[in-house]
Amino acid sequence: MKAVYFTEHGGPEVLTYGDVPEPEIGSTEIKVRVRACALNRLDLFTRAGARGTRMDLSGPHILGGDIAGDVAEVGSGVTQLKVGDRVVVNARLTCGQCDACVRGETELCVRPGMIGSTTSGGYAEYAKAPAANAAKLPDSLSYVQAASLPTVFLPCWTIFMRRAMLKPWETVLIVSASSGVGTAAIQVAKNVIGATVITTTSSDEKAKQAKELGADHVINYKTEDVAGRIKELTGKRGVNVVLDHVGADSWAYAMPSLAVGGRYGICGVTSGYKVELQMGLMFLKHQTVFGVFMGRNGDLRNIVEMAGRGVVKGVVHATYPLKDARKAHEDMDKLGFFGKLVLEVP
Ligand SMILES: [Zn+2]
Repeated sequence: MKAVYFTEHGGPEVLTYGDVPEPEIGSTEIKVRVRACALNRLDLFTRAGARGTRMDLSGPHILGGDIAGDVAEVGSGVTQLKVGDRVVVNARLTCGQCDACVRGETELCVRPGMIGSTTSGGYAEYAKAPAANAAKLPDSLSYVQAASLPTVFLPCWTIFMRRAMLKPWETVLIVSASSGVGTAAIQVAKNVIGATVITTTSSDEKAKQAKELGADHVINYKTEDVAGRIKELTGKRGVNVVLDHVGADSWAYAMPSLAVGGRYGICGVTSGYKVELQMGLMFLKHQTVFGVFMGRNGDLRNIVEMAGRGVVKGVVHATYPLKDARKAHEDMDKLGFFGKLVLEVP
């Protein structure tokens, strides 16, 4: 099959378009004819071997976790899917056997993996996944739309619905509206929960797009005093919940903006992963800081259902044919985009 792969870690130039063998599936797995695969920061880290992703590469590695396509083959033990079903896949792999998995808290699995990072992924004509990780697509969702959902919506869903339990009458700060996670978080907080949404971005054009997605207030972090504006907007109370996928840069204004009883959820650290925590204020204000990585297969089904009804949508900045994955990686390294970059597989 055609695929984009690499055989050594490095820059975008290590990505090669060529032929590799099709994946072979086990009894509880499906083989997906990939139609679309969205890019994530993790793809760039994995390609570079950065942030704990370095592997002993014995053969070609194929990136890509956010896979949408048609079921092309099912394992002998697969009961809920058939050849031809349109699906999108949760890239998060879990062992199904550890205490956390057995309790149903699969996000806490002690032997997790990630399609496209710890196993081969969807920059290819075919990819494999556990059948349980697939969610069936309604006709109203395109493959590109579907591929743009899992990795950005799952952590937002987990943070707001399960951990922070964001309420309709509360105010949430979503840092950096323009990333995939930012666009997802605004929609879940606003369109699904109905909370008041404050977000930050770097230009008037991006601010306009954030408002169109549902943000109530947008603060320009380049020209405005973010913490001061949040004080103003919340009557000095601060925000009840923070969703932070940026890390060090945003912590500086977001943590001091957290209200009494506030919950601070972290699902990414692209700007840096070490910060100072004022523990005294944290306990006096009954605040919680927690981390989240991806989410459960059941959550993905909820997200797909909401996307099918038009309550939320994947924000796609650009699509590229599979063979241009290198160009897509180069573009992702620049900051000028709003939403997801998605590969289409003809
Ligand atoms: Zn497990």
